[in-house]
Amino acid sequence: MLKKLKRILFFIVLPVFVLWVASSLFSYFTHSVVPEIRLVGLQKDGYYAKKLSCNIKSDNSYKIAKLNIFLDGKKIELRNDQVVRTKKFNIPFKFDISGVSNGKHILEIEAVDGSYNRNKSVEKWPFYVDNISVKAVFLQQEYKVDQGRTIHVRIQANKQLEKIHVKFLEDTYNCYPESNYSNVYECFIPIECEQNSGEYMMESYLKDFVKNIKNDVTLLSKVVVNTVKFPKQHGFKIPEGKLEEEKEISMSDKILEEALEKWVKDSPKKKLWRGHFEIPINMKRIATPFGEIRTTPEKGRYLHRAVDILDSPKSVVWASQDGKVIIRDRFLKSGNTVVLDHGLGVFTLYFHLDDFSNVEVGDFIKKGNPIGKLGMTGYATGYHLHWELRVKNVPVDPFQWIKKSF
Ligand SMILES: [Zn+2]
Repeated sequence: MLKKLKRILFFIVLPVFVLWVASSLFSYFTHSVVPEIRLVGLQKDGYYAKKLSCNIKSDNSYKIAKLNIFLDGKKIELRNDQVVRTKKFNIPFKFDISGVSNGKHILEIEAVDGSYNRNKSVEKWPFYVDNISVKAVFLQQEYKVDQGRTIHVRIQANKQLEKIHVKFLEDTYNCYPESNYSNVYECFIPIECEQNSGEYMMESYLKDFVKNIKNDVTLLSKVVVNTVKFPKQHGFKIPEGKLEEEKEISMSDKILEEALEKWVKDSPKKKLWRGHFEIPINMKRIATPFGEIRTTPEKGRYLHRAVDILDSPKSVVWASQDGKVIIRDRFLKSGNTVVLDHGLGVFTLYFHLDDFSNVEVGDFIKKGNPIGKLGMTGYATGYHLHWELRVKNVPVDPFQWIKKSF
């Protein structure tokens, strides 16, 4: 029996052992792959507050002999249970950053394997510390606005934020910094002419860049919408013959409205304008003021949500502000039409032009650049410019934008 056991040891176990030693020695002397260490739960260039909490993971092909962690070059001592000498591990790593200065920092992990070559890898994780909680205020305590006008919301925050939006009635408006690096965020809210007057609450939601801690704030402000008595117009009628003529040469108004919907979504997330808007012609007289109540056989009763301005026929019409040409075409009702996008979903529309100046869709043009000539194309009874200003596709009184610098 003993003899048999000895034989097994000699012929089976011993060769296996020798083989194992040989292969271990071979891999000890020849292993040349640098260790692969991952940090799970810490996003490169992410923002963190108070505490870092992540996992150091290894799935290496040779056991790790040494693991060193540095914050901005300074070594962080690991606890005993975090000292590992295996190929595979997944150890939690928590680090208090409440006392660490705000701004950019670098976490560095150095891993050395236990082979003869002492293969070493150094991986750097840049990240940001932001221990400041969000604070913000509406720069105006209460907003008073007439029907058909625009609210300019401004919110002052104590730092740059990732997201800030305002909810008013059914809609949400994203806010953007007033200028590069500004902590004042703004948005423009159009008030429909038909919006019932009364008091409403406006809610703003703010969130910073911090990933690991919920650091959001909600602000409230009151909005008072005042009633406007829009004037009534009588006797507006387009001659039958002109209507037929326009149908032959124009595109449907639906195409224009669909294009506007699309362009609102694509509008630049910053103002392309500065200062006041300007009346785009030498105004002789206002033919139809903003909001006039009109009744026509084609459209029934509706509000004229633009200003019709008179000047000499075929006089120059210019851009009322810097912007991008997004529409330049002929449509049934609006005739020869130019639409400019001024950024943040603010558009100006120029209808009934006689013809176009040398502008093309996609051109960036300056305030005062000519866009066409005063005409009466489309549904127009005489030479005039129908000038419209839309905020997020809601027509509002453009004259407010002339008197006030938004
Ligand atoms: Zn008009």
